[in-house]
Amino acid sequence: MPVAQTRTPKRQAKKTAKAAKAAPSKPKKNGYDPLAPERVREILKRLDQRYPAVTCALHHKSAWELLVATILSAQCTDATVNKVTPELFRKYPTPQAMAALSPEELEPDIRSTGFFRNKAKSVVGAAKTVTGDFQGKVPDEMDQLLHLPGVARKTANVVLGTWFHKAVGVVVDTHVDRISHRLELTRSKDAKNIEQDLMKVLPQNKWIEFSHQIIHHGRALCIARKPKCAECPLENLCHAADKTWSSVEVHKTARA
Ligand code: SF4
Repeated sequence: MPVAQTRTPKRQAKKTAKAAKAAPSKPKKNGYDPLAPERVREILKRLDQRYPAVTCALHHKSAWELLVATILSAQCTDATVNKVTPELFRKYPTPQAMAALSPEELEPDIRSTGFFRNKAKSVVGAAKTVTGDFQGKVPDEMDQLLHLPGVARKTANVVLGTWFHKAVGVVVDTHVDRISHRLELTRSKDAKNIEQDLMKVLPQNKWIEFSHQIIHHGRALCIARKPKCAECPLENLCHAADKTWSSVEVHKTARA
């Protein structure tokens, strides 16, 4: 007869303490709650005012082009990707054209985006799967997108949100990760859990726009080193430990 496994009290206590540490901030004694709906609403309102109608900075004319551009954008600036993709899509305009290549044949065309060997494998693999399993069309479902080589939730969320206008999740890139911590919207360390925290705290109809706005904010003002806090529309709502100027108290846990 199978014996049910039990955790020792010590192991359980350790696990509970770890979970509590990773969980989003709880209301503090003085009544401050970083996740309070009115605070989140105010953050969203100010982002709307500062960054109205922003969208993905990667140039594309189809779901396929956006998918490839997003794969190429890993560890690389959108500006560099935008320099590479016009000629890339002129030479190989369809998933079928890229599926006919070997990764080695694609490498010279994407070399300047960095990590080009892995990226070439991902792009050619995605092209083969799109042509072989999805009749040459990029799927519009999360679970199907995740079957494509080189595609994880971030890339899938970019394609679903920007091209298909489907709010299935929240794009978590380096800017969203950093600024969500500074704004105390999450305390999680990995992208998967940060996304889950944001999905709980943000209304679903803002999931797509929030990422675009935060990515713009991360490039314009809330940069990794020396954020421009004196110019920031969120300043008096932000308690980040690494602020460069503050009119409110800072919280040492509010950091990336
Ligand atoms: S106040 Fe500074 S740290 Fe906070 S969101 Fe604005 S730029 Fe970023």
